[in-house]
Amino acid sequence: MNDCIFCKIVEKKIPARIVYEDELVLAFEDLNAQAPVHALIIPKKHIATLLDARDEDLHLFGHIVKVANTIARDRGIAERGYRLVANCNAESGQSVYHIHFHILGGRHMQWPPG
Ligand code: AMP
Repeated sequence: MNDCIFCKIVEKKIPARIVYEDELVLAFEDLNAQAPVHALIIPKKHIATLLDARDEDLHLFGHIVKVANTIARDRGIAERGYRLVANCNAESGQSVYHIHFHILGGRHMQWPPG
């Protein structure tokens, strides 16, 4: 999608610190890290929000969990624990309208989230 910043990262039109890539997804470091490990896992296909996911997209979400586990093991946070977060729409705090899963770890997390 033309004016989507994450589509531009997928197309390599703007730089990102890529930590994982395959045919379905891309993962890169969050510009504004909230934990020692903070990356975003996105589908390469533009889907604006979780509410826009269709039946044909369902395989993507299982794949994203697998990729999160791969990143967590690579970064040494799998056994300690990590958080996988997806914000949907304004009240959750979604600011980029291309589905993304935050993988966060490397410090003790609080609950409830802010
Ligand atoms: P959310 O608030 O859940 O929509 O999260 C959007 C995230 O994208 C924020 O944590 C931002 O720091 C991050 N972000 C925005 N632009 C970029 C970028 N160009 N490269 C890496 N992370 C970004």
